[in-house]
Amino acid sequence: MLDSPENPAPSSEELLAEVGHRTQDTEFFNPIPPGYQHGRHKYVVVVGTVMSGLGKGIFSSSVAKLLKDKGLKVAPIKMEGYLNIDSGTLNPYRHGEVFVLDDGLETDMDLGTYERMLDQDLTRDNYTTSGQIFRRVLDKERHGGYLGRDVQMIPHVTGEVKYLLRQLAVSQNADVVFVEVGGTVGDYENGFYIEALRELAYEEGESSVCFVALTYVIEPHTLGEQKSKAAQLGLRKLMEAGIHPNIVACRAHHPVTELVMQKIAMFSNVPINRVFSMHDRASIYSIPDAMREAALDREILSILRLHDRVNQSYEDRARERWRTFVTRLEAERRYKVHIGITGKYTSLRDAYASVDKALEHAAVHLSAEVDVHWIDTSEIEAMGRTGADDLIQGLDAVIVPGGFGQRGSEGKIACIRCCRTQRIPYLGICLGFQMAVVEYARDVCGLAGASSTEFDPRSPYPVIDLLPEQKKIEGLAANMRLGGKEVEIKPDTLASFLFGQAKVVRQRFRHRYEVHPDYIAQLEQRGLVFSGRHPQQPIMQVLEFPTSEHPYFIGAQFHPEMTSRPLRPSPLFMGLVAAAIRHAYPDLPANQISTRWLPPQTARPAIGVPSH
Ligand code: GLN
Repeated sequence: MLDSPENPAPSSEELLAEVGHRTQDTEFFNPIPPGYQHGRHKYVVVVGTVMSGLGKGIFSSSVAKLLKDKGLKVAPIKMEGYLNIDSGTLNPYRHGEVFVLDDGLETDMDLGTYERMLDQDLTRDNYTTSGQIFRRVLDKERHGGYLGRDVQMIPHVTGEVKYLLRQLAVSQNADVVFVEVGGTVGDYENGFYIEALRELAYEEGESSVCFVALTYVIEPHTLGEQKSKAAQLGLRKLMEAGIHPNIVACRAHHPVTELVMQKIAMFSNVPINRVFSMHDRASIYSIPDAMREAALDREILSILRLHDRVNQSYEDRARERWRTFVTRLEAERRYKVHIGITGKYTSLRDAYASVDKALEHAAVHLSAEVDVHWIDTSEIEAMGRTGADDLIQGLDAVIVPGGFGQRGSEGKIACIRCCRTQRIPYLGICLGFQMAVVEYARDVCGLAGASSTEFDPRSPYPVIDLLPEQKKIEGLAANMRLGGKEVEIKPDTLASFLFGQAKVVRQRFRHRYEVHPDYIAQLEQRGLVFSGRHPQQPIMQVLEFPTSEHPYFIGAQFHPEMTSRPLRPSPLFMGLVAAAIRHAYPDLPANQISTRWLPPQTARPAIGVPSH
């Protein structure tokens, strides 16, 4: 959460110091953070018209990537209209997964898109909500920060927005700040963002702010042709707000026709060479190159007068690396594997967006086509003890991802038992790690009724329990262990093999519960290996079985999927996909799959498990 003990809200002194230098006796409210260099920092603002869900995040992160690959320093920011302070309390089935930044901020899934596309760790400065902005303004007001003035949407709230943007530019030394405004132009809740950006462009002056309107060209079935009217109306809405777009990007199902582009150019006063077709593509990874071919990047450089900051040889190398990835992605895959993920089908992709992406990254690198099977664990519970066996039949690997609450937990445990006993590759993430401990405690250590106190507070063997420090903190919002933390890796283990013998790795966490320290010795005695732990405290963070007993069984208290990047896939996912290939093609020599990701002495594949 925003104000976790590690990340307190700014003190009143800090808030006052920040507003103290602002001028109060003029209509110009031009808050500038210390160290800001006028003209050094430029802005690309992406706003949506017509409708939401056009992929603004993918669009802006792709443009940002193009500029980053030219050697420019980029800093994206997502400005959300909602009043929540962060995304921690949002329901992932409604809003998509909660993504956790290294500094512990819980954000929406778009920040994951930016991190993956840019291969760049972001911070709380790269994300804001209306709630955060209003809270800062109200805090200042309570501390006398406005020196007797009435506090208004304009200039004070808009001033806060401009201040945050400039502060981001300074703190991340950005050549270009990429601003993505949530929702669409005309929404009541983002009106003050749009106004703040209009003011920003005015204050920063010519060639400093490039407005990109992402619009939508509809193609009604009944007409069979593209119509530009909705796009025109959307653009007009933006112009009514005093913003004239520099670039119009048209989302559409098919490539936008020349005629439609001409219409849009004519009605919005945007030269036709700055109107772009952003039609659907098979893969988001091909978007940067497609934009480059259409010269979108060059137009932005011209608008912002940035040509002289481009580093050509850097760009050539970056493009080459990216192209290798895209070529592999588009090439026909050598292997086909079936991987089960426990999760409700209907909620699927957005709620587990990072898991989905991490699997994709690993699959591309190992030339595997992954067929994802969503396993409804409540169904397993209804089917009784053999239910899991039936559902897992034919799968080459299983992932139990993170989650909260009891629903389907017994089904998950049944899946894990099946993976353990039938030697099916398994990756447990957070809750999936905890459930593997429960399963082992019950079935191998003989602790009948072992559970997590999250579901069963009266369990006789609470092998998973609240973290001691979390027990002291009351209330839902503040008691999560969040963000990037160090994990100490035990040598000569599967984890050590996967992490390339690293002694310490940094991974992202989001949990309240952990392995109860009283049961660690017992679990270890019965063969469970804790191969990753907190460097100082007895917090268990990775578990595994020796590779002589199981080809791939590993669990992580952290979320490996959140740091997987296209060019730097997560080792735990690479290991899983390699093991799945091995499972599907048992006769293939290990060195044909990938000696880097298959540990040297893997067990024989399970007997009696069908392969494909
Ligand atoms: N519900 C568990 C906990 O709070 C697991 C959390 C998760 O999977 N992200 O510890």
